[in-house]
Amino acid sequence: MRKRKVLVVDDHRVVAEAIQAILESFFRVFVEYSFEGMCNALLGERFDCLVLDVNIGGDWPGTKIVKWVRGLDPWMGVILMTADPSLFYQTEQDPSVICVDKDIGEDSLVREIGDAIARARKPYSLRREHFEILYKHNLFSWINAVRIVGLSADHGTRRIEAVLTGDDIPLSWSLYTSPEEGDMICISSTSGCGRCLFCDSGARPFKRPLTKEEMGGQVILSMEMLPKGPKIVSFGSEGEPLLSLENCCELIENLSRMEFGFKFSIITTGDEDQLAVIRDRKSSLPFTLSWSCHFARQEIRDFYMPGTSGQSIERIIRLLRQIEGQGRPVIIRYMVIRGVNDGKDDINKLIDLVDGKFPVRVVPHQKGRLKDVQPTTSEDVDAVISMLEASGIVCLKGEAITNTNVGRGKNAPKWSA
Ligand code: SF4
Repeated sequence: MRKRKVLVVDDHRVVAEAIQAILESFFRVFVEYSFEGMCNALLGERFDCLVLDVNIGGDWPGTKIVKWVRGLDPWMGVILMTADPSLFYQTEQDPSVICVDKDIGEDSLVREIGDAIARARKPYSLRREHFEILYKHNLFSWINAVRIVGLSADHGTRRIEAVLTGDDIPLSWSLYTSPEEGDMICISSTSGCGRCLFCDSGARPFKRPLTKEEMGGQVILSMEMLPKGPKIVSFGSEGEPLLSLENCCELIENLSRMEFGFKFSIITTGDEDQLAVIRDRKSSLPFTLSWSCHFARQEIRDFYMPGTSGQSIERIIRLLRQIEGQGRPVIIRYMVIRGVNDGKDDINKLIDLVDGKFPVRVVPHQKGRLKDVQPTTSEDVDAVISMLEASGIVCLKGEAITNTNVGRGKNAPKWSA
């Protein structure tokens, strides 16, 4: 089969040639080091995909270059390499344009090029049968016109930036491919968030909770993008699902009546009133509840998770016990942050809280989120797991949360007494 032609454009010769070396086993690769060189190459011959450093155009912003190259050849895929996530929102309404982080992994880059080429050759369309099913159940409407404005990928995750809302506010969600658990879609329940210092979603200004149609839109698009469809629908990509609990529950109710075979999971930082609603009025709905505790000491939790301050850890645990007593699986999530929440006092407090009643998913804090905090190592995580297991607590080991974007969390100050 003919190898696809890829044009790589980057004014850093070393970077351009490194990308060329990565891609050469898969594609016929051509390289240009300037904006003018790129224009001449594109005017001279056809390429299947352009891999473009977004800063190449001098006065021309990346969005303008994209408009120009797409006008020149609408059948060419475009990969925009950028460290600026705001561009993900600004790129044209065109699914064959994919934004990736500059430090994207090799495998991910090859995959994204394949996707960009495929989408340029076959304009993006929803699977008709999925659309019809969701439309019939009032879960998706053309009014929430689909606009995918950026994709990034790494660590086995694909993050989708899109506008599926009538008022044009952006949202994002993630697709995970897991050999153990099956493919998972992690959808957003709000646009923006801003509740926790350590989470990069906290950098996105909170706009509003999403409707069930807007959440349904994320599901239907994921069904299109994952070849076998997702197995798990998790409410936890961005935002606090309990801020839109009724919408989340209506979506779960609607989707569970259809024959997609999804499992559902709500990941929450917790809200006493809404947990009581889950206990009193939602006990028949099929979802797993994961509570992101992360800090067993109240004062530290209030500092790093200001959106939850006023919520008592002790009262939340009591509610979770009642919910678990109704037969709903409840998992406690604990993100180990070296030197902040991994001391003996913290873990003993966590052990008291959990009291052997819930499994604990232990995940590492991701490097760079918090100022003056050393990176958490796998040894740090293992040490916490050993302490918990020695007290008879079942531990689930988890990867670092990878849905990063820009970071208010990156320079958030460290808690001090
Ligand atoms: S952890 Fe959840 S609630 Fe906190 S900022 Fe991130 S998305 Fe929002």
